[in-house]
Amino acid sequence: MQEHADGCHVTDTDGNTYIDYALGYGPLLLGHTPGPVLDAVRRALDLGLRTGGVTAGEAELAERVAECVPSAEVTTFLSSGTEAVQLALRIARSETARTRVVKFRGHYHGWADSMHVANAPGSDDPTTTGQDPLAAENVILLDWGDLKALNETLDDTIAAVITEPAAVNAGCFEPEPGFLEGLRRATTANGTMLIFDEIITGFRLGLGGAQGRYGVNPDLTVLGKALGAGLPISAVTGSRAAMRPVASGRMLHRGTYNGNPLSVASGNACLKQLANSADVLYPRMEAQVTRLAAGIREAAERLAAPVHVNHVGTCLQVFVSPSPVERLTDTIGLDKEAVLELSGLLVERGVMTLPRGLMYLSVEHTEADIDDTIWAFESALDAFTH
Ligand code: PLP
Repeated sequence: MQEHADGCHVTDTDGNTYIDYALGYGPLLLGHTPGPVLDAVRRALDLGLRTGGVTAGEAELAERVAECVPSAEVTTFLSSGTEAVQLALRIARSETARTRVVKFRGHYHGWADSMHVANAPGSDDPTTTGQDPLAAENVILLDWGDLKALNETLDDTIAAVITEPAAVNAGCFEPEPGFLEGLRRATTANGTMLIFDEIITGFRLGLGGAQGRYGVNPDLTVLGKALGAGLPISAVTGSRAAMRPVASGRMLHRGTYNGNPLSVASGNACLKQLANSADVLYPRMEAQVTRLAAGIREAAERLAAPVHVNHVGTCLQVFVSPSPVERLTDTIGLDKEAVLELSGLLVERGVMTLPRGLMYLSVEHTEADIDDTIWAFESALDAFTH
């Protein structure tokens, strides 16, 4: 149980301290205690809770998003990623007057029933009991990277194609060269809206997210996690034309906590800090991830441990697998229990990852943290293989 945190370190109720790579499932790109963010939230608190009203901070945050994210012109705010995905789908349906949506197997777009299907490749089923089996009736599942299948599927009933532009949830896979460009061409030709779910990749794969990194602009982008630096906020953004249903008021977009002033204050302070030092912060974090990946691979080779690593931007995935995991479909049948065991061994050595082996970097991780983490991996892999 976590008691308090400082930078990228978390201390539990027994007084043990860990280097944190779970980072609240990703939002804590600036670590747990970013001074400017905490100050901004305190200042906002002093003005009263003000929830439910419109504040100047919202307009400022929309401007900051537009400065960072290449395809962003008009932005609207919500509280969670799940909600923002639902809003993006609604915008696409409203704008195209079509109903069906293409989703890729192994991608995660939140827990709402319509999208909570085929979260891992290998099964097209709803992910949990209790889901309405009819909710995903208008969702067509395809394999990520398969442009041929996409082109055969697209017709005048498809409102949107939604994708994680880099498949971080499934194991930190980059898109194959030409895939995002192919998606862009095919959707434009078919009058279908292309939605990038950048809940993870936004501000993590660079200030401009995945679209900045790969140079492909979607119609709509969903943002969350790092946007709020730890406070709950999400956004849907896009060109003026794509956001017309929201901006014109012809489509309903509800939510009591939309644009909550504390989250907006946090978002503004976060984007300000990232934008001011992007040139330094991103190359440093990516170099650290690369060094960490090399250290883990070296230790795994030396100890003959069946462990492989993928990484993209500030995200790294550890797999327990006899061979490298190069494509999303290579994750089918991998031993999840073994990854869980490895993450438990790492916790015992002072390193916290997500239990499924995903690790996030923050601006607070130092070279000494990376050294300590590589040491923890060496020791954990030794225990794992004996
Ligand atoms: N989309 C992606 C790519 C995510 O990784 C997540 C959460 O992990 C979501 C959507 C849902 O966001 P939230 O948990 O804020 O509802």
